Amino acid sequence: MVTKRGAVLLGNHVACDAHDDRRPLRIVTHAHADHLAGLRTSVKKCEKVLMTKATRDLIKIIEGPDALAGGNVKTLEYGKTTRFGDDRITLAFADHIIGAAQVIVDEENGARVVYTGDFRLDGTPVQECDTLVVEATYGDPSCKRNFGVNVKELLVSMVERSLRDGSVFVFGYHGKLQEAMQILHDADVSVPFVMPERVFNMAKVCEQHGMRLGCLTQSTQHEAKAMLTENLPCVAFYHMNSRGTVGLGASRICLSGWEFTSACRQIGHKEHVVALSDHSDFDGLIEYVRQAKPKRVITDNFRSNGESLAREINKRLGIKAVAMPL
Ligand SMILES: [Zn+2]
Repeated sequence: MVTKRGAVLLGNHVACDAHDDRRPLRIVTHAHADHLAGLRTSVKKCEKVLMTKATRDLIKIIEGPDALAGGNVKTLEYGKTTRFGDDRITLAFADHIIGAAQVIVDEENGARVVYTGDFRLDGTPVQECDTLVVEATYGDPSCKRNFGVNVKELLVSMVERSLRDGSVFVFGYHGKLQEAMQILHDADVSVPFVMPERVFNMAKVCEQHGMRLGCLTQSTQHEAKAMLTENLPCVAFYHMNSRGTVGLGASRICLSGWEFTSACRQIGHKEHVVALSDHSDFDGLIEYVRQAKPKRVITDNFRSNGESLAREINKRLGIKAVAMPL
């Protein structure tokens, strides 16, 4: 089930992505804030708190170095299985932000329960199971991205074009900003990448865990400040929350998954939204469920509206699905 506080309960012992007093094992699927609910309480009260190494390292930056202090925090590699009481627990890769995991729990009676966490179908291995708990961010049938264009290539060409006029500001959420750096770096966009301290520290963690992100400079550095004030060619990466306060006169690109009509939309004189998403769209969610062949499905109705997705799974796949919490 999914509790009123957003804890996804699996097997007999596991609570994922929010604290639950009855569950001694807390699992964190990834480092986004809506999956870290009650984390300090879990660190204090749970027998064990489990996540991937990359998620642990990101949390220390997002929540502060003491967020995981004092508890029994353990890391688990993808594909390795650990036991807790009569539950056997495995983390599987999820294509979302670095470190993101799906959670597989094999119960003593042989039943397999899977929680997808957040994911993008492209690179996510589907887990066959008896019971599936699936995220529902884009769970409405209107949320389809059939653009027929490669969004990554589009981002690269927009940035390259805008660099001719000087600095380009890219706004997005944690994880996606670093993905954008990697996309631009892979495409040989070789201007300096400028960013505030937290985005920089997150990028450094991503590099430690295998991503290649280019030439990174903190925005407090003298040269970086000069580049931005003189509008020289560089790409500045800022959290979406800074959108109203930085780079106001420059070329601006906002990365958002909530775009379904076109891959790119102009919203201001030099400002565009690009539909780079780290979640599956509606079709991707349905396809995951179809391939996982579960007997029953629970859609996450805490972090998003899961009712529509549950209804469509029932209708299109003939699999019993409910949204939780109700
Ligand atoms: Zn997420």
